[in-house]
Amino acid sequence: MKRRLVAGLIGAVLVAASLAQAAEPKGSLSAPDALAKLVKGNANFVAATLKHPDQTEARRTKLAAGQNPFAVILCCSDSRVPPEVVFDQGLGDLFVVRVAGNVADGIGIASIEYAAEHLGTHLVVVMGHSRCGAVTAAVKGDALPGHLLTLMEALEPAVAATQGHVGDPVTNAVWSNVMQTSARLRGCGPILAELVEKGKLTIVGANYDLDTGVVEFYEQPAAATEAAAIQ
Ligand SMILES: [Zn+2]
Repeated sequence: MKRRLVAGLIGAVLVAASLAQAAEPKGSLSAPDALAKLVKGNANFVAATLKHPDQTEARRTKLAAGQNPFAVILCCSDSRVPPEVVFDQGLGDLFVVRVAGNVADGIGIASIEYAAEHLGTHLVVVMGHSRCGAVTAAVKGDALPGHLLTLMEALEPAVAATQGHVGDPVTNAVWSNVMQTSARLRGCGPILAELVEKGKLTIVGANYDLDTGVVEFYEQPAAATEAAAIQ
């Protein structure tokens, strides 16, 4: 009896696993559609007309079987830049990788690979923000304790690339860091580079303005459309 119960349980687990597998999404919104959805959500946020989509109990229940995020957001850990809020999205919408200074280390890249390759997400947004504390520290170049040094080293190329440029050095370095990170992800083989090459993945840079709440995309939908057209 006990053995039969165990066998039944195993069967139920296998069926549940297979259902979860079957429900696991393959393919998400196209990159242009995903970008348009982010732009619309950010407009809601800026205008203080948040819709709070996908935050119901029904949505939570539906997602228990699998996720189908329409965009990956690599952004800073800064508490003022939560992607689900600034893009007015809910459960299961965004696959978020957050780390101070929005740098892409090995585990961050692996996370993005998982979303792009396994979950079929077609859009990655690398988003910096104004007056980023991590970038400011890197620009100042002060000696920092503990593991902060690792973060400063990761940001150093962006600081070096914009040294002596006209304008605010932190703003310039934030931009450079986003552009460098985006370019690095696009060329990161074998997974991301291949998906980009096949037109199945679009990686765009963006900046969040702390004062206005506006997200400016460095590479506009035209680039995403072009990539999607190759599909
Ligand atoms: Zn920051």
